[in-house]
Amino acid sequence: MKNNIDAFLDLVKERNGHEPEFLQAVEEVAETVIPYIVKHDIYYGKNILLRMVEPERLISFRISWVDDQGEIQVNRGYRVQMNSAIGPYKGGLRFHPTVNASILKFLAFEQVFKNSLTTLPMGGGKGGSDFDPKGKSDNEIMRFCHAFMSELFRHIGPNTDVPAGDIGVGGREIGFLFGMYKKLRNEFTGVLTGKGMSWGGSLIRPEATGYGTVYFAEKMLSTKGDDLKSKSVVVSGSGNVAQFAVEKSLQLGAKVLTMSDSSGYIYDADGINTEKLAHVMELKNVKRARIGEYIKKYPNAEFVKGKTPWEVKCDIALPCATQNELNEGDANTLLSNGCICVSEGANMPSTKDAITAFHKAKILFAPGKASNAGGVATSGLEMTQNSLRFNWTREEVDDKLKDIMSNIHDSCIEYGKEEDGYIDYVKGANIAGFVKVADAMLAQGIV
Ligand code: NDP
Repeated sequence: MKNNIDAFLDLVKERNGHEPEFLQAVEEVAETVIPYIVKHDIYYGKNILLRMVEPERLISFRISWVDDQGEIQVNRGYRVQMNSAIGPYKGGLRFHPTVNASILKFLAFEQVFKNSLTTLPMGGGKGGSDFDPKGKSDNEIMRFCHAFMSELFRHIGPNTDVPAGDIGVGGREIGFLFGMYKKLRNEFTGVLTGKGMSWGGSLIRPEATGYGTVYFAEKMLSTKGDDLKSKSVVVSGSGNVAQFAVEKSLQLGAKVLTMSDSSGYIYDADGINTEKLAHVMELKNVKRARIGEYIKKYPNAEFVKGKTPWEVKCDIALPCATQNELNEGDANTLLSNGCICVSEGANMPSTKDAITAFHKAKILFAPGKASNAGGVATSGLEMTQNSLRFNWTREEVDDKLKDIMSNIHDSCIEYGKEEDGYIDYVKGANIAGFVKVADAMLAQGIV
C-alpha cells in the first residue's frame, strides 16, 4: 500500500514540486483514498486520482487598475477550474497578498471533495488575486473588482462556473463583481453566490459557513452523548466564518473566549457575548479595524500580539482564519489543556502533524472539507433559488443547512468508522467525496 501511495505522490511532486500547499492537500487525500481504490476493482487501474489532481483548466490573467493617487497598479488574477464531473465549477474567490497558484490549487482540490459531500450538483473551482484589500478605499475596491471581472467574465456563467466569496471577498466585493458581470453580459443571472438579498441572494448565506461548522461540532459531540452547552470555545479569525461560528456557539450555550486576526488574538475570560460580538462585527465589517481595538471598549480583555489563540485552555477549538494556522505544537497544547473537539471552519487550518496528534489522542476532529461545507452548500441553495426565481425563508434555509451538515456527518461515519468505534472524519470525508466524483468520471469516459 505504502508503495502505491509513494509512487503516486512522487509523480504529483515531480509535476508540482514548487506548490507546497497543493502537495499537502493531495497527500492527505491520497493517504486515505488510495487504500480504498486498491480494494475496489471499479476504481483500480483507472488513474482516477491522477486525473483529479490535474486542473481541467487554470486561467491566469493580468489585472490593471488605477489607485486613488492616480498610479497604475498591476495584480495577478486566477481561476482554477478543477473538476466539473458532477456540476458546474463552484468555489470562492480569495483576495490576499499570499494568493498564488499553489494556494488556489489546494483550495480548488479540497473544494471538489467538499462540494461532492454536500450531495448538491456542484463541481470544484477556486480563484482570486494577490490584491491586498487592507487599507484600500471603497472606490479602489470597486475599481479593482471591476477590472478583475472584466477578464473573468468570459470564463464563468451560471451553468459553467459560479464563484463566491472567501478571504478578502465579502458582500461588498461580490456586489462590485456582479455589477460588472451584468454590464458586460447584459444579463441578470445567478453567476455569483453571496449576493445581497435584494438582488438574488439567499438568507443565511453569510452565516452558513460559521453556523455549519458549529452544527458539525454539535453532531460530533452527540456521538459521545455530549453537546455545546457550557463548553469553553476558542475561535481564531474575526472575519465572516469566525463571526458566525461565534454567534452559533453562543446560541447553543457555549462560552467563547477568543477571536483573532493576523495581528494577534483577544482573550476575554468573561466570554465574548452577543453584545461584544456585535462590536467585533462593527470593528471588522464597518470600520475595517484590527482586532486589538476590542480592548479599548472591553478593557478586562487582553490582546496578545502576534500569537494564535491555541494556548488558551478550552473544550472546543474552531480554527476559522486561514491554512496552516494550527501546528503540531499548538495541537499538543490544546490536547494537554483538555480540548475534546476541533471543527475546522477554515480550509486546511491544521497542519498534517497537528491532525496526526488529534488522531493519536482520538479526540473529535473534523477537516474543513466536511465541517465548513455549509457555506458552499448554502451557495448551492442560492443557485437553486435563483433558478426557481423564488426565495425560501430563513428557517427553511437553516433547516436545509442543518440537514446537509447532518448528512455529511453520516457520510463521514459510513466511510470513516474504525473497528474500535473511533470516527476518522478525514478518511470518511475523503472517501465519501471521492466516490461520487469518481463514479461520475467513470460514467463520462476519458475526457
Ligand atoms: P475573511 O476575509 O472574512 O476573514 C479572514 C480572517 O482570517 C480575518 O480575521 C483575517 O485576519 C484572518 N487571516 C487571514 N489570513 C491570515 C493569516 N495569514 N494569519 C492570521 N490570520 C489570518 O475570510 P473568511 O472568514 O471568509 O474565511 C476564513 C477561512 O474560511 C478561509 O480559510 C476560507 O477559505 C474558509 N472558508 C470560507 C468560506 C466562506 O463562506 N467565506 C467557506 C468555506 C471556507 P486579517 O484581517 O488580519 O487578515
